[in-house]
Amino acid sequence: MRYGIAVDTAKCMACYCCQMACKDEHCGHDTALSKSQPMMGQFWIEVREWERSDSSRLTKTATVATLCAHCADPACAKAAKNGAVYKRDDGIVIIDPEKSEGQRQIADACPIGAVYYNEVLDIPQKCTMCAELLDDPNYLAYLGDPKKFKKPRCVEACPNNALMFGDLDDPDSDISKYVASHKQTQLEPLAGQETNVKYLNVPTVYLAGTVYLPKELEEVAIGAKVSLKADSGESWEVTTNYFGDWIVDDLPKNRQVDITVELAGYKPVKYTAKTDADHYVDMTYLQKA
Ligand code: SF4
Ligand code: SF4
Ligand code: SF4
Repeated sequence: MRYGIAVDTAKCMACYCCQMACKDEHCGHDTALSKSQPMMGQFWIEVREWERSDSSRLTKTATVATLCAHCADPACAKAAKNGAVYKRDDGIVIIDPEKSEGQRQIADACPIGAVYYNEVLDIPQKCTMCAELLDDPNYLAYLGDPKKFKKPRCVEACPNNALMFGDLDDPDSDISKYVASHKQTQLEPLAGQETNVKYLNVPTVYLAGTVYLPKELEEVAIGAKVSLKADSGESWEVTTNYFGDWIVDDLPKNRQVDITVELAGYKPVKYTAKTDADHYVDMTYLQKA
C-alpha cells in the first residue's frame, strides 16, 4: 500500500475548498501526528495561482493546489536531526512535532516550500496526508463510496475531482489508472524526484496570436492554418477560430519556434518566437497572393 494524491491542475477551478478543509481539520486542535497549525498565513495545501500573459490581448491563469509531495527521498528528512522526519510504510512523510522542535532547517530544505515554520510552537509543520484520519478506524468519511476508501479532507472537499486519493501500488486503483492516462508534470523544483503526490497537467507555456485579412478589410481571418515547428523537431498545427485567434498551449520550454500562417488566396506569413515564457506573439495581417 502506497498512499498518493493526484492533483489534476486542468480540473482545478480555484475554489479554495481544499485549503479551507485542511484548515478546518488542522487548526485549533492537535492530532495524533501533528500540532495545530496557525490560523493565518500557513497552508499545508496552498492554491497557488499565477497570471499567464505578456499582453493585455490574452490573459490566462494557472492554478496548482500545492501540498507536500511526500517524496520517495525527501530533502526535509535529510536535513532533519534525531529522526524528526520519517517515512511511513505507506509512503507518507511525517514531521514529528516533538523531535522537530527548533529544527528550522527542515522547513528551509523543502524545494517547493511545503513546510511552514510555526513560530509560536517553534516547530516545522506540513501536510500529513491526513494520516491521523486514515489511521482512525472511526473515520468513515466515505460512506457513499462503494469501496469505503477513506480520503484526506482536502480530497473529500474538492467539488470538481481535481484531487484524487488512493493506492499507487495497486495498478488497478482509480488513482493509478488516472495518473497513467494523464500528463504527469512534476513541479520543476522536484524534477527527477519520485513522489507520492502526482501533479498532472501543470501548464508550461503558450504561444498565441491573431490573424487578420488585409488591413483595409477590417476582418479577422477565420480558419487560417498556423503551423509551429520547434528547433527540437516537434511540430503543432492549429487553425484560427471565429475571432481570428490561435493558441498552442503546454509547449516545451526554451525552444525556438518557426511559425507559418497560411490561408488559401493569401501569401504565407512566417515569423519566429521563443518558448521562454507565455507569449502573445503577434497580430498578423495577410496579403493577397
Ligand atoms: S515535498 Fe518537501 S516537505 Fe514534502 S517530502 Fe518532499 S522535501 Fe519533504
Ligand atoms: S492531505 Fe490532509 S493535511 Fe494534507 S493538505 Fe490535505 S487536508 Fe491538509
Ligand atoms: S478544492 Fe479542488 S477545485 Fe477547488 S481549489 Fe482545491 S483542487 Fe482546485
